[in-house]
Amino acid sequence: MKFDNSFFHSSFFRMTFLLIYGVLVLFSITTKTHNLHHQVHTNNLSFGNNTISKNLLVHQFYSQFTHSPLLLLQKKISFSQSIVTHGTRLKKEVALTFDADMTPWMKEQKDLGYVTSYYDSRVITELEKTNTSATFFLTGMWIQMYPTETKAFGKNKLFELANHSYSHPSFAGSCFGLSVETSNQLPDEINKTQELLKNVGNTSNSYFRFPGGCYDNASLAVVQKEHLTVVHWDTVGNDGFNPDTSSIVSNVLSQTTNGSIIALHLGGESNTPHTADALPAIIENLKQRGFIFVTVSQLLSDKQITIAPTPLLTTFFTNQGDPKTHLLSVNQQTEKE
Ligand SMILES: [Zn+2]
Repeated sequence: MKFDNSFFHSSFFRMTFLLIYGVLVLFSITTKTHNLHHQVHTNNLSFGNNTISKNLLVHQFYSQFTHSPLLLLQKKISFSQSIVTHGTRLKKEVALTFDADMTPWMKEQKDLGYVTSYYDSRVITELEKTNTSATFFLTGMWIQMYPTETKAFGKNKLFELANHSYSHPSFAGSCFGLSVETSNQLPDEINKTQELLKNVGNTSNSYFRFPGGCYDNASLAVVQKEHLTVVHWDTVGNDGFNPDTSSIVSNVLSQTTNGSIIALHLGGESNTPHTADALPAIIENLKQRGFIFVTVSQLLSDKQITIAPTPLLTTFFTNQGDPKTHLLSVNQQTEKE
């Protein structure tokens, strides 16, 4: 066959060219799809069945090729409606977290002398003694009540500080009897504590945890606007008002797995009297099982996240009913749960 001009215009050449081009395009798509599956698998990402999660999946796919403004917007939307509940399931790392709640009513109880303290220093003693990392989700009112302690936490390399609102209200309507604030008060609830974390705890924080664990799309949007990531949990000690140390221990040990975020409390005395008692067995057992304790930011450093498809309700802090019934007996709680 002669390769003159007539050859390049022949239908044989055109068909061959189209065939080779088609094979190359198919190969390219297959490779990129495989990369996506690999990425999802190795990052241990879990997706809910809502469109938000699909947006994230779409973003994961396209971000391999480009960072166009449209796709960045897509990422922003997906993250605005997501919360972190654990880290990677591929590493034996876990994060102990302790919430320090404080409401105006709780403060009043202390001012009136009904409660001596909302800080159980035995938790810190145990963490330091065992060289165990932890993250504290502090309310602004708690920081104002315990500035010296907050400052010390901020200086301690083992610890990380995060935001748990200013006065522990509900961010999503009815939530275990927590006081409900109007939506335009919610940014202040976040920002006042951000300021306190910075000024008292010397911390530039990136994480937020909803009081009572209650949220909806509107409150998620508020947190997103303040550029914070919502960090909840996959393991609860159910230490609120719990008189049984061994049940707190077994709650934690039975749920903890690779990447777990464990939710406990720092208040002690009336609200969470036996958290500190449970801590030595929890730490010892999990270390024996090969788990390494890290802070939340260390746990999430490789961006492994989980999407919770629907709003969650907490079961670990159960001051349901009237906001003033913060000190419900365990029997009352059980009935209400
Ligand atoms: Zn709380």
